[in-house]
Amino acid sequence: MSEKRDYYEVLGVSRSATAPEIKKAYRKLALKYHPDKNPDDAEAENKFKEAAEAYEVLADAQKKQRYDQFGHAGVDGSGGGGGFGGMDMDDIFSQFGDIFGGGGGGFGGRRGGGGARQRTAKGTNLRVKIKLTLDEVADGVKKKIRVNKLVNAAGVTFKECSTCNGAGRVNRVTQTFLGAMQTASTCPNCQGTGKIIDKKPSGADSQGLERKEEVIELDIPSGVEDGMQLSVSGKGNAGPFDGIAGDLLVVIEVKEHEELRRDGQNVHYEAFINFADAALGASIEVPTIKSRARIKIEPGTQSGKMLRLKGKGLPSVQNYGTGDQFVHINIWTPQSLSKEEQDMMEKLRESENFQPNPDGKEKGFFQRVKDMFSN
Ligand SMILES: [Zn+2]
Repeated sequence: MSEKRDYYEVLGVSRSATAPEIKKAYRKLALKYHPDKNPDDAEAENKFKEAAEAYEVLADAQKKQRYDQFGHAGVDGSGGGGGFGGMDMDDIFSQFGDIFGGGGGGFGGRRGGGGARQRTAKGTNLRVKIKLTLDEVADGVKKKIRVNKLVNAAGVTFKECSTCNGAGRVNRVTQTFLGAMQTASTCPNCQGTGKIIDKKPSGADSQGLERKEEVIELDIPSGVEDGMQLSVSGKGNAGPFDGIAGDLLVVIEVKEHEELRRDGQNVHYEAFINFADAALGASIEVPTIKSRARIKIEPGTQSGKMLRLKGKGLPSVQNYGTGDQFVHINIWTPQSLSKEEQDMMEKLRESENFQPNPDGKEKGFFQRVKDMFSN
């Protein structure tokens, strides 16, 4: 087995690609190498599997984090040892079917051509949205959520399927001009689980399932961003006939902070100080994600100055250190003045020290850009 390719390389995206970019890249490859478009093409099938494996890891925030940190060693199953991590085509279709927009995990009639493969029964995925504050994003958080999902009905029992004798697959022999050909396909009676309902309580549907509200505890890692999707395997709807449960997909929504603006791992805060504090120096308090911090304003501080509070930003999901908080200083000009203040200001207006005299450091943005190109 040749060496495994880098997952980002497989999908043709950069390491900083966003979740939607990763999904888009995977979708493109999956459609290109789709087995329906490339019948009996082993090369295409390998590419299809390779892309699915890469996507399985990069679309999952936790797996992606481990992969970014440790490479393939971080995400290979214990049985790994090269190869395509044991994903077969059925897994791919049941897990990522929804990427093709077919809904319900299905693949919109791809099996119409009489292929031997069928999906094994798997419960459908559930999708929930969860709202987090910046504070929760900073530390990661455990959340209990209620979901209404399909579970095995209370009191239901299953027995071995008599059609396939519990194997989940049935062999079919067809005569061709080359001789007898044997093909295996998923057992239609038990949908591949090898089990059928034995005792069916009144609340159970034809697959042995019923709807129930369940409380699920989620462990949200720190540093997640708005729009990210985490996948909790096996916490979706139960599969028919005691089959494999689907996944719970958790879409992250980060609430806007009242005072801080997030930009990736950094946060920004607009501080307004009065004219006297700017001239005389002061100590001001600013909000941070976790609490508040005191910062020193040097005498003679100009409007537009930016101060950095190192490490007061957010951690990255990939554990690449922590961002900073930037405090932008704005000088507040009074909106109205008393007679007394007006008199004071009139005196100050004439003072030599009050005449603007910016040196190199204080040149405006346009001047700095101009300097950059003239040098
Ligand atoms: Zn069966």
